[in-house]
Amino acid sequence: MNAFDPERYSRQTRFMPLGAEGQARLAAGRVAILGCGALGSASATMLVRAGVGCIRLIDRDVPERSNLPRQILFDEEDVAAGLPKAAAAACRLARIDSGVSIEPVVADLTAANATALLGGVDVIVDGTDNLEARYLVNEVACRTGTPWVHGGAIGAEGRVLTVIPGKTACLRCLVPEPPPPGALPTCDTAGIIGPAACVVGAVQAAEAIKLLVGAADATAGRMLACDLWSGQWRSVDLAPLAAAGCATCRGGDYPWLEGRLGSAVAAICGREAVQVAAATDMRIDLDAVAARLAVVAEVTQNRWMLRAAVEPGIRLTVFADGRAIVDGTRDEARGRAIVARYL
Ligand SMILES: [Zn+2]
Repeated sequence: MNAFDPERYSRQTRFMPLGAEGQARLAAGRVAILGCGALGSASATMLVRAGVGCIRLIDRDVPERSNLPRQILFDEEDVAAGLPKAAAAACRLARIDSGVSIEPVVADLTAANATALLGGVDVIVDGTDNLEARYLVNEVACRTGTPWVHGGAIGAEGRVLTVIPGKTACLRCLVPEPPPPGALPTCDTAGIIGPAACVVGAVQAAEAIKLLVGAADATAGRMLACDLWSGQWRSVDLAPLAAAGCATCRGGDYPWLEGRLGSAVAAICGREAVQVAAATDMRIDLDAVAARLAVVAEVTQNRWMLRAAVEPGIRLTVFADGRAIVDGTRDEARGRAIVARYL
């Protein structure tokens, strides 16, 4: 535990619901942040500045120029240096508060490592960009009884849901089945504005702070949904879902963690390519996927598959059974990241 500097946090401790006692709990708190993208950048910045004692940052990616409008931990030097996001973020955060213990982890979250990577913390903050990782977080959280804060942002919209296992609805209560690949827009197909991501990251940080000091009951189990373009903010009570529960939070069923669901990634022999199998056996709507990808690349399509050069040197081939082949890399984590990005 970190002893905290009373002067540094004086404006925070003056906020009565927190006080010196709350600040001491923050100093003793341990948070894992999964993903150092837009949401993770914002929540990590606020949690480090708030004086949370230990923060684990987990990310599989490196910063790119197109991240800079919203991923506030990174700058042009980080893009040029090519350090992994978790490592670059740890350096930046250590300059903000040298007293906080920051543990960077450069890894792709999988069923095999999720329990270890997300273990030993008081709160998990979701800064990922894909549903598969979120189901893994949800299952680790439900199995270990660890509260977690789900967040998502796309376009000008954001949403936040705090899950307290045993008390509130969980992610599977809300989204019982994953939609087929390509059914939902992603930031890479539909775009995103920085303020939407920062709002979500800031609300997630507030939820994490409240969880650490034992003050989250008023908002846990309610989903905040906001649209910064239309100016609409809603808070939806998920208590009816919590009352029913689901197979995971009520029944102890962990299909993603136990590898019964999830995309398998395999290198393709003799080729600079990896194949990412679909997480479900639902067939996908190739026309809808083609329409989304057409925003970023030229798409060629027939009734079985479509193909698009989504990034320099990277060609994505998507099959109607949900499988995807990423040409241009042999790195399984990169292949999985590219599929998550566009599908
Ligand atoms: Zn549930």
